[in-house]
Amino acid sequence: MASNWVGELIYEGKAKRVYRVNDELLIMEFKDEVTAFDGARKERAPGKGRLAAAQTVFLMRLLSKYGIRNHLVDWDGDRKILVRGLRMIPIEVIVRNYAYGSFLKRMPLVKPMTRFSKPLVEFHLKSDELHDPLITTDDIIEAGLTRQEQLNEIMGIALRINEILSNYMVSRGLTLVDFKLEFGFDKSGNLVLADEMSGDTMRILINGRHLDKELFRRGASA
Ligand code: 5GP
Repeated sequence: MASNWVGELIYEGKAKRVYRVNDELLIMEFKDEVTAFDGARKERAPGKGRLAAAQTVFLMRLLSKYGIRNHLVDWDGDRKILVRGLRMIPIEVIVRNYAYGSFLKRMPLVKPMTRFSKPLVEFHLKSDELHDPLITTDDIIEAGLTRQEQLNEIMGIALRINEILSNYMVSRGLTLVDFKLEFGFDKSGNLVLADEMSGDTMRILINGRHLDKELFRRGASA
């Protein structure tokens, strides 16, 4: 079922388009395309937009049940979700349970898939041009992106989300390796989880096999 929700196109990225409905609401439309390596590899993938929307809706609703504030308002049942407009913080918050991906590139002393003694939380600046570089908490404060207390709150929420998602995945025989989150502020200054949560933003294994975009990154076809 395609929706007749409409708005003014304000952003087009690799995986989605964003439309402004009014002062409060946006539409996020997930594309039927899969990309990797900052868009250097791209393929059409019919059904992928709906899947990303469905996964985001499922996971955000799950998190809501645990009191995690997030931007989801509604879903059209297809490729679009209605979300609250926020003042976005231009950082990616990554939580890692096992050594994988860019962690291994910067820390080759750790063996792939080593389970960390505690989940790691790290921050990357959102910048395709710079390939989302790892940044420190001091960098974030000095750049005026958040205050220290807000950053502490983000870390707390990210770890709580990890707990909720890891428990959910374990109960279904899945392993949550790592994932990426983005946050924004609402008009009252509350931190709100935003963006998407899908196979594009997390690594999930079943019996050692990937159930996420890693397959595509390694060269499989969409
Ligand atoms: P890594 O830093 O190891 O490449 O990624 C860690 C986790 O965050 C993975 O689950 C990956 O899917 C997600 N992630 C990191 N950067 C991005 C990004 O720019 N876009 C998306 N969609 N996910 C990302």
